Amino acid sequence: MSTSRYIGRYAPSPTGPLHFGTLVAAVGSYLQAKSRQGQWLMRIEDVDITRSVTGAADDMLRSFERFGFEWDGEVIYQSQRTEHYEQALATLTGKNRVYPCTCSRKQIADDSSEGVSTGIYNGKCRSRSLPLNVEHALRLRAGDTAITFEDLVMGRHSQQLDTECGDFVIKRRDGLFAYQLAVVVDDALQGVTEVVRGTDLLDSTPRQIYLQQQLGYAQPDYLHLPLVMDETGQKLGKSTGAAALDSSQPVKSLLAALKHLGQQPPAELQATELKSFWQWAIEHWKLHNIPKQNQTLTL
Ligand code: GLU
Ligand code: ZN
Repeated sequence: MSTSRYIGRYAPSPTGPLHFGTLVAAVGSYLQAKSRQGQWLMRIEDVDITRSVTGAADDMLRSFERFGFEWDGEVIYQSQRTEHYEQALATLTGKNRVYPCTCSRKQIADDSSEGVSTGIYNGKCRSRSLPLNVEHALRLRAGDTAITFEDLVMGRHSQQLDTECGDFVIKRRDGLFAYQLAVVVDDALQGVTEVVRGTDLLDSTPRQIYLQQQLGYAQPDYLHLPLVMDETGQKLGKSTGAAALDSSQPVKSLLAALKHLGQQPPAELQATELKSFWQWAIEHWKLHNIPKQNQTLTL
């Protein structure tokens, strides 16, 4: 057992096979944990069962194994943790911060202030109370003070939730818990001390910190990694990157991932076994070398 108090995690959504973008985030998260002698947990974020692809979680886990990742403890599946999310919801409801919302996406877009569609919910249903007999989502009232945090790579980030985000959904109209709530509950219950993930989630972080405050949870450190972009400037997705990832030559892809994260592996590492690759990578991991800008795929 490690004596470090560092607990990291990787939390992929099982929506398709492992692609290079996922690999990069996993490598960054793994190296942060391992270079600090910490634990590294694996959590499958299948809370949105409507997006989960059958067999994708197992496929991903097998791929992670082929790339030499070793996680601590059992893999956790969000689809089996509804009772924990219910409990958190009860806490928030007890604080009178939750209300039912029956607005459709279209209504919200139409209602945006001065005809400008900001997508920010205007709080129209705030005076509705529970229980409500028609299908509805549950929203959490946003706080009116700025949430500011120091990201370990991206620096200071601040968001005023009520004006920049609005009251946000914590349980969806279809009855599923929202990612924002599930991720906060799981990180807290798993004792995660540092969250390492892609910058696409930087803007979700203030909502998550706000939820931690409302639920009385400790706030982990945050480290957002540059994304892998395709040549059209889009975040690398299943369609663009999947083909590029060859798990029969894991070291090759891992080296590309390391370089994407600004690390400088020597050319000799090309010819090494997985074990020596990871040894080198853990030993030479340099946080301050990680670029702040998203990078275009260079495989
Ligand atoms: N499940 C999310 C994703 O795959 C990541 C969530 C997180 O790391 O907080 O994009
Ligand atoms: Zn509403």
